[in-house]
Amino acid sequence: MSSLSPRINTPPVSSPPAASTVAEARGTGRLKQVPEDRRIRERIRTRAISLAGELDKSRPPAKHQLEEHARCILGVLELSDAYLGWTMVALNTAFWHGQVTAIPPGRRLLLLPHCMRNLGLCPADYDQYGLRCRNCGNCSLGTLRELAQRQGYRVLVAEGSPIVMQILLAGQVDAVLGVACLNSLEKALDKILLVGLPSMAVPLLTGTCSDSASDEDWIREMIATPYLAGPPTTRTYLHLLRCAAGMFDAAELDRLVPRTRSGPSLAESNGQGLAGLEPIAATEAIARDFLLRGGKHLRPFITLAAYDAMTGGHASAPEGRDHAASLSDAVKRIALAIEVFHKASLVHDDIEDDDSYRYGLPTLHRKYGLSTAVNVGDYLIGLGYRLVAAQRDSVGAEAVADILARLSDAHTRLCEGQGAELAWRDARQKRLAPLDALKIYALKTAPAFETALYAGLRLAGSAEPYREAAARFSRHLGIAFQILNDLDDWSSNQPNKRVRGTDLVGGRPTVLWALATEALGAAERAELESLAEQGTSDRTVLGRVRELYDRAGVHEKASALVAKHDRRAREIADQIDHGELRRLLHYFADTMIRV
Ligand code: SF4
Repeated sequence: MSSLSPRINTPPVSSPPAASTVAEARGTGRLKQVPEDRRIRERIRTRAISLAGELDKSRPPAKHQLEEHARCILGVLELSDAYLGWTMVALNTAFWHGQVTAIPPGRRLLLLPHCMRNLGLCPADYDQYGLRCRNCGNCSLGTLRELAQRQGYRVLVAEGSPIVMQILLAGQVDAVLGVACLNSLEKALDKILLVGLPSMAVPLLTGTCSDSASDEDWIREMIATPYLAGPPTTRTYLHLLRCAAGMFDAAELDRLVPRTRSGPSLAESNGQGLAGLEPIAATEAIARDFLLRGGKHLRPFITLAAYDAMTGGHASAPEGRDHAASLSDAVKRIALAIEVFHKASLVHDDIEDDDSYRYGLPTLHRKYGLSTAVNVGDYLIGLGYRLVAAQRDSVGAEAVADILARLSDAHTRLCEGQGAELAWRDARQKRLAPLDALKIYALKTAPAFETALYAGLRLAGSAEPYREAAARFSRHLGIAFQILNDLDDWSSNQPNKRVRGTDLVGGRPTVLWALATEALGAAERAELESLAEQGTSDRTVLGRVRELYDRAGVHEKASALVAKHDRRAREIADQIDHGELRRLLHYFADTMIRV
């Protein structure tokens, strides 16, 4: 036993992060220093390997558990908590090492950061997969890439690219090995690692945009991780995530939801758009094309995962790939319907907000006109109800009736929330109490999550024992999720975001606005209202809004609200007597409320 042993028991999965953790986590910069001295990095790494050897490998560690163990390591080594992020990465890598060895190199993805290139001399260009390194010899990326490729790895010089998630969900790789700065690795922990995907990483020593330094020998060592065939041992939701995404592949969509109209699809219309379609088949063709465009498919995943949790958790078992694939078509179709409703709401939202792009393509109303887009949104709502109703013979009339009742209730509540937002946007009086903002959030974000969860529970049997708790959990989760979105709207932590404060420019009634108008004096409140009335994304105007928000303490208060609703959601989850469901709810909180 190491000297860490008295403190290394894996925290129970139900352990919520400390209330302050969520608020503090919005500004973790001081916790992401790389230890400058290699000897310190080696000491941390050695401790991490020792500690990981004693952890329960049957479940992936939640991020707050990694953090707790990392703090323990730093405490024992008497090192600053400034190295917390680095230590968490070292611990995560040590945790998964054994399982990465069980995955053949041909099923591993190596992600290298383009910031390691020699910017002044690099002749490479970019494509959709990232930097196309020419191995010119002016930096080590070329040799590292070649080393990994010789072993069979798939390699991308594309840290943080959306293509990475696509590759993972398409089932092309079973482990990810990465080199990146601590900021990028923190995001990866949020997006990928909690899924239960075996992963290892070596943090860069600097976070500069070019010529970044690294522990290159550790990168080579990571690439050389041997292959020792063995069964996976850690539970994972990856199989279910892949199942949810796979339902929106063209062939699988055609199988689960056969077309009712003949004639060419949009893809087959030779780029003629509407003109290439039979008029009576056009609505179905546009709707199906929209379903295939993309998205995270979170809602159908929630339904599938809730169903799986209540029926033994076989598809989230370490070897659950076949179980996920063999879920009944009726269950898949109802999960698919949940996404269809979501897509319908996106079409209508885009019209109401007059957005130009969705999934990187023109929105439907911009491409086909307002009337056609409204009609396609309506069609999708009808398609969703039809899909659920059609499963009556497979899952029973009562279950279908119960799910339809929940769906219609969610539908009306969502419309009420959206209506309240539109009414506020168009009103002359811009005062809003924080509680009213939260009520709008509860109506706009919670019903979809709640219904997706309910559908999975109901498909597995009676949902009554958990219906009330699932509704309250969803409400707190939805509110926390929406406030985090509001905070992200002003975040400097989003490299792709060129404009901050888009909610303010778009006239959305946010809790940030409500907190500001509540706290500011009359003169500053009048100034804030006058700035918002301009509806401009001018940097000077938004900079002044940010100053007024800061003066009102908006970001701290909003972060405290996130912490409160996160805590309440986890308290509700802790009271669930069904272990798999309890764990799933905590997983939702871990992934959606990104602490
Ligand atoms: S080795 Fe590759 S990434 Fe490095 S400078 Fe040459 S082309 Fe660019």
